[in-house]
Amino acid sequence: MDRFPGVYKAAAEILDIGRRMYEKNFVAANDGNISCRIAEDVILATPTGVSKGFMSAETLVTMRLDGTILERGDLKPSSEIKMHLRLYNENPEIMGVTHAHPPVCTSYAIAGISLDKAIYPEALVNLGTVPCIHYEPPGSQGIPDSIAPYCRDYNAVLLANHGALSWGRSLTEAFYRLEAMEHYALILMYTGNIIGRANVLSCDQVRELVKIREKLGITSGGVPRCCAETAANLNDVGVDNCPFNKMNETGARNDKSPDTEKIAEIVREVVRRVVKERL
Ligand SMILES: [Zn+2]
Repeated sequence: MDRFPGVYKAAAEILDIGRRMYEKNFVAANDGNISCRIAEDVILATPTGVSKGFMSAETLVTMRLDGTILERGDLKPSSEIKMHLRLYNENPEIMGVTHAHPPVCTSYAIAGISLDKAIYPEALVNLGTVPCIHYEPPGSQGIPDSIAPYCRDYNAVLLANHGALSWGRSLTEAFYRLEAMEHYALILMYTGNIIGRANVLSCDQVRELVKIREKLGITSGGVPRCCAETAANLNDVGVDNCPFNKMNETGARNDKSPDTEKIAEIVREVVRRVVKERL
């Protein structure tokens, strides 16, 4: 079977994903861009200045990976297409790329926070960890240069103060990763900032999930910060301090957060001093 989708199939998929992106509120006005590889050296991509929810096949642009335009309608390719071209050039396995500004992902990108906590298996296996890379002006050459180091080992990145970018071995996989990313960001926001607690997976659990991911043929995605098994490892690089992760024998949570431990220590110190003064 041919590795590349035919141009009609690719166009239909781009229009469909554009509609879904728009309906899911991942883009506003003319934001976002989508592309699909249709030959070793050729992609089909969305043009500049159109709503992704209301595109027609005639507006799509066919380009070579060096940026040469092979076919286009009335509209030029987006200035952001440079980051798509860089991804395809850096990693021959990439078959589709999506870029959007989903609100929760973009909020994390504005805060400069990577999506890298090991909190649930689906995000880890199919998406992996999502680094937030430094700010570069939209459409500038700085963006493709800044994403280049991540093209092979990761499946998506947050662009600081800008939005989300994902890729995959098919355009559908790239879009699923964009959806997964927004979902992951939303859950991180709920657990981290609204509910205020999360049981981070242990490093053993994370290793097990990475093995499953490899069995599925996914060798990219990085490894999220996991929860150390022993207190001695809590300050290791990549290991999260996870005060809420420990369960006692009955399965209930151990509520000793660092703050309550600190308060307990202060109380003990006060008692020690009072006792000393009285002696
Ligand atoms: Zn953008």
